[in-house]
Amino acid sequence: MGLLEFLLGRRFPFTFIYDEEYWMLNTGKHIFPVRKYRLIHERLAAMGARKENFLRPEPAAADVLQLVHTPKYLRKLRSGGLTREELQALELPYSPELHHFAALQVGGTILAAERAIEDGVCIHLGGGFHHAFPDHGEGFCLLNDTAVAAEKLRRDGRVQKIMIVDCDVHQGNGTAAVFSRREDVFTFSIHQMDIYPSEKISGTLDVGLWSGDGDRAYLEALRDHFPGLYRKFRPDLIFYLAGADPLAGDQLGGLMVTKAGLSIRDRMILEEPLRLRIPTVVLLAGGYARDPADTTDVHLNTIRTVVAMKRRASVRGLRNGAVRNGSPGG
Ligand SMILES: [Zn+2]
Repeated sequence: MGLLEFLLGRRFPFTFIYDEEYWMLNTGKHIFPVRKYRLIHERLAAMGARKENFLRPEPAAADVLQLVHTPKYLRKLRSGGLTREELQALELPYSPELHHFAALQVGGTILAAERAIEDGVCIHLGGGFHHAFPDHGEGFCLLNDTAVAAEKLRRDGRVQKIMIVDCDVHQGNGTAAVFSRREDVFTFSIHQMDIYPSEKISGTLDVGLWSGDGDRAYLEALRDHFPGLYRKFRPDLIFYLAGADPLAGDQLGGLMVTKAGLSIRDRMILEEPLRLRIPTVVLLAGGYARDPADTTDVHLNTIRTVVAMKRRASVRGLRNGAVRNGSPGG
């Protein structure tokens, strides 16, 4: 079998980051859908993913979390010493297990970023906790996985310029706060204005839409900026928060975007980075459909898009290589 056939034959030409502990967190009847992690994993297995397609993360250590979070906040998380106001803002019951879950999710996004640099792309079946600020958590987000991973990769000298493309329906207020006034990290957020967070924090570029806007407004707004932004900013690494919560019927959002519309979004955001081989981390982020199967469908569509585009990029790369080397490809 030639290299071309080998690449085409590989069902998943990149790694997934996932840990069973993601769905073992007990959140009772809370709307936070940990079950979706298991559903996605099961559906990937049904599509032919094998054990070797998945890597398990380690929880991020305190010194790494401190690249973004304050020592005082981290101490409070360790001791369970959050105040009543802080617990209210979190909107999720605090437990040592939740703390572990959050640190594991940060570790997952770090590992995904490291793999993306090796393989071109990596999908973390979790991540996207963009409401966590340096000194407090909010909106189900205890620790900001994307911000910590971005800072760690920069500190390790792996990359310099990072772009965060946040397409969760909620504004990425925590991430925007972390990177305000920074020129080496570009934060883009497209979100619904008339929902949480009531106070939006300006990122590098924010696009606000309104309840009921639907596919057309959503995709037109994205088309205004992509792929042009990649050419202007020239990132070394991209984090894409592929939120499922702009979906019509989401219990926490009202943008009314269809599954087909979200697939077009994914292609619009991912085509250029995968074609140009800019390392890209895909985070599945939020999704609160009444039926978790709908959220899972959106996430699986994102994964299918990545598979198709990565294959196409690999084939193109081989062809170009073959032309340059003057030898037959595959
Ligand atoms: Zn969200």
